[in-house]
Amino acid sequence: MSASLRFKVVGEAFTKKPVDVPNCTERPSEFFAKYVFNRQKMFKYLPAKVYKKMCDVIDNGTTLDLETADQVAAAMKQWAMELGVTHCTHWFQPLTEGTAEKHDGFVEHDWKGGMVEEFSGKELIQQEPDASSFPSGGIRSTFEARGYSAWDPASPVFVIGDTLMIPTIFISYTGEALDYKAPLKKALNAVDKAATAVVHYFNPEVKKVVSNLGWEQEYFLVDEGLFAARPDLLMTGRTLMGHDSAKNQQMDDHYFGSIPMRVSMFMKDLEMQALELGIPCKTRHNEVAPNQFELAPIFEETNLAVDHNMLIMGLMKNVARKHGFRCLLHEKPFAGINGSGKHNNWSLSTDNGILLHGPGKTPTDNLRFITFVVETLMAVYKHNGLLKASIISATNAHRLGANEAPPAIISSFLGKQLSDVLKALEDSDDDSLFNLSGKKQMSLDIPQIPDLLLDNTDRNRTSPFAFTGNRFEFRAVGSQANCAAAMIVLNTAVAEALTSFKERVDALISGGMDKVKAIVKVVREDIKVCKPIHFDGNGYSEEWKQEAKRRGLDTESSAPLMLDQYVTPETIEMFSRMDVMNECELRARNEIKLDTYTKKIQIEARIFGDLCLNHIIPVATRYQSQLIENVHKMRDIFPKDKAEKLSAMNMELIEQISEHSLFITENVQRLIDARKVANKLEDEREKAIAYHDTVAPLLESIRYHVDKLELIVDDELWPLPKYREMLFIR
Ligand code: ADP
Ligand code: MG
Repeated sequence: MSASLRFKVVGEAFTKKPVDVPNCTERPSEFFAKYVFNRQKMFKYLPAKVYKKMCDVIDNGTTLDLETADQVAAAMKQWAMELGVTHCTHWFQPLTEGTAEKHDGFVEHDWKGGMVEEFSGKELIQQEPDASSFPSGGIRSTFEARGYSAWDPASPVFVIGDTLMIPTIFISYTGEALDYKAPLKKALNAVDKAATAVVHYFNPEVKKVVSNLGWEQEYFLVDEGLFAARPDLLMTGRTLMGHDSAKNQQMDDHYFGSIPMRVSMFMKDLEMQALELGIPCKTRHNEVAPNQFELAPIFEETNLAVDHNMLIMGLMKNVARKHGFRCLLHEKPFAGINGSGKHNNWSLSTDNGILLHGPGKTPTDNLRFITFVVETLMAVYKHNGLLKASIISATNAHRLGANEAPPAIISSFLGKQLSDVLKALEDSDDDSLFNLSGKKQMSLDIPQIPDLLLDNTDRNRTSPFAFTGNRFEFRAVGSQANCAAAMIVLNTAVAEALTSFKERVDALISGGMDKVKAIVKVVREDIKVCKPIHFDGNGYSEEWKQEAKRRGLDTESSAPLMLDQYVTPETIEMFSRMDVMNECELRARNEIKLDTYTKKIQIEARIFGDLCLNHIIPVATRYQSQLIENVHKMRDIFPKDKAEKLSAMNMELIEQISEHSLFITENVQRLIDARKVANKLEDEREKAIAYHDTVAPLLESIRYHVDKLELIVDDELWPLPKYREMLFIR
């Protein structure tokens, strides 16, 4: 891009007017789930008997027979055609971190020379997408390229544009999971079973335990003209070079600031479309970094929440384009300012509305509460390395361990009140301790401000897994990740902890011990065991790294090595015991993650090399030539001494440019060589390690010199939009 073109694009970005979104007179409750075939629609379109059958399938997981499926499909078709729908697709979540769909028209021959709209139960329930191009980690050799997608009735069908979208799981011909949803559903089933059994100590009437997820999605917006002028953003989702803007987030003036008009129109549009798709959007605000924002819905059952998060990420990208933006979901699109995460607020609750991670009013409620908190900590403690592996990726690695994001060590913050309770329980042998009050009144002596209800916790933003009053908040999840990866591990690990808890309590009870005494005894034991995971201090500090190592927590900081956790004996044992994934599936997942890691860095290294050689070095050289010419001309018109004096600064710049340029060209060559060496490695793990150890560090060290050149070279010549131009669009 020429300099004048850069200025033109920047100018256009700054003067763009907001795209108007017409005011909607309907209330959100009126258009909520307008495009979702939910229970209300089922009730309207299905015969009563079929409706009841479907509720049974959804609530109790009974199998769906083909006859019922045919009737449901016919009703769906009718509803969808009233909305102008012509196509349908199975919508699934392969291990690529996106979603996949293949649209089929409703049309069939009518065998009279015409066409007829058809949609059968069989098409609804199952399809066989040719899946040979999806990552399978060696599960499916190409001669068995068939994969099955199968309808997940727990997540309702919805309509986007002219297409009926059917949420499905995706499995191989031989039954192994090729996606996120199949193991997620098994993990949710495992935690339901294990938690229900434990809840029965306290509330025998409970039939089901549900896992809840409330995600908070962070994202950046960039003007699309500027985005298009940055090949690195376009190809990798992040800026591989770019000097800090003089002003970035140091004034703390963006967080919770008033939302710029153009962005606010985008948000309004996005929320309306999301609400129509049944996503219960609630919160929106500016985030810490300039041009960074957040959207959070009300929490939902985890399976549905995962689908909705995948859906919103797609929606954000589409709606952004309508408003002349590009939505960046990368965890670290810009160096030097905050990256984006996706806090996963997680809890368990029962079918009759008990929040198992929330304190109650009676001692029994609170013993139950403490039990679930402690067993969650046991799960996180035992599998802290695996939890970290579940959220690591080449992109999230930039965020983890940096000073604004969760550290690369999983620990749990509990807050003073809960810590005190656990400590008291651990230290005493008094069984009558359970008397936490749910909320503590705090009287503020400020006129006109009502008394606040204080949560049972204070806040610690440096903790990757914090207790926040009635849930845990897993903050290390990356902004573009599928939440399912983390939710599979967390729910399975908690299922395992609760199962072991129940076994030990039952053993004591059958030995004659009183139930409450047995529960308290095991809880007390576990508080001691899982103590190393509890950390309320500053997770960013250097001392914590040392302390965590002493405590035996996983402190691995290399992403490929973190992924080893997927195939340790403890992991394999847990997943197979909880019936969520077998060893073959885990090995496949591990391999896919390694391969994805390698490819991401490979692409970055290639585009970075091109940018250095084709964009940066040529303009640096051109500017340097101008300076040299100037020095010569000085010598022509001034006496030698004076010319030397007047050219001193230019001489200095000429030298600096030479040094930076030399470093860049030499090291880009090293980068290419390092890639070649790594590419020759057959083993996925070895290759990913080579990319981590030899390729990625070169990107960083070369970048330093490019960013220095950005400060030296005439702004008129600089080919790429700068941070200060990209980050402050209003
Ligand atoms: P913040 O952490 O920024 O204060 P909020 O309080 O707005 O965020 O809540 C963030 C998310 O947590 C929302 O999606 C909310 O619905 C969800 N949430 C609240 N309570 C629970 C719970 N018990 N279990 C799971 N998610 C919850
Ligand atoms: Mg939060």
